[in-house]
Amino acid sequence: MISDPEIRSVLWETYPDTIHCADDTIYLMWPDFMLAYVNLGWTQFAARNGGEPAISLNWPIGSCVLDAIPAVLKRFFAENFSKCLRERRPWEHHYECSSPELYRSFVMMTYPVGAGEGLLVVHSLARETLHTRCVCKPRDILYRDLQGFILQCAHCRRVKRCGAKPTWDWVREWVTTCPANTSHGLCEPCYGFYYRNADLSTSGLQDTFRTGE
Ligand SMILES: [Zn+2]
Repeated sequence: MISDPEIRSVLWETYPDTIHCADDTIYLMWPDFMLAYVNLGWTQFAARNGGEPAISLNWPIGSCVLDAIPAVLKRFFAENFSKCLRERRPWEHHYECSSPELYRSFVMMTYPVGAGEGLLVVHSLARETLHTRCVCKPRDILYRDLQGFILQCAHCRRVKRCGAKPTWDWVREWVTTCPANTSHGLCEPCYGFYYRNADLSTSGLQDTFRTGE
């Protein structure tokens, strides 16, 4: 049960006790994107995926939600959250959050709540299955560029193989923990399918692409 009267007041139209006990990962943020509340599903998901106690320690109430989003996607999320609040309309976004063993896709629904007092974000598992991707070995010589950086897609977590033709590989060992000097961008398939209309920087994107699968 949610005991904080301010949170209950903002969520009164959305069955706060049901939200609190839901399996879905749900949180409330204020209009300035500060985390206001997380449900039990949030804590349980983090624990199941080895994220606790680090997530609770690093992302307490009052943290900025945008700080948890890779730089390449911050503007996309900030603009859509703001639009959702401004227009008082839900925003639906699909994304991947795979583990090393499991392919997982989620639907994220963001709802304006109260009198424009906050945004309720609900993450629901849409699909979970064993990966069928070809697994590549974590070999620095293949993936570090001349400056010593590894580029990982912020959406699907494939990493870019260096060379003349861009190739994105599934390196299982680097899914949960990125190696040192990893930067984040978007692979061409993810950019084209999920973010084409997002007005994100396309610097570094190639005209053609392929995956190593
Ligand atoms: Zn990708």
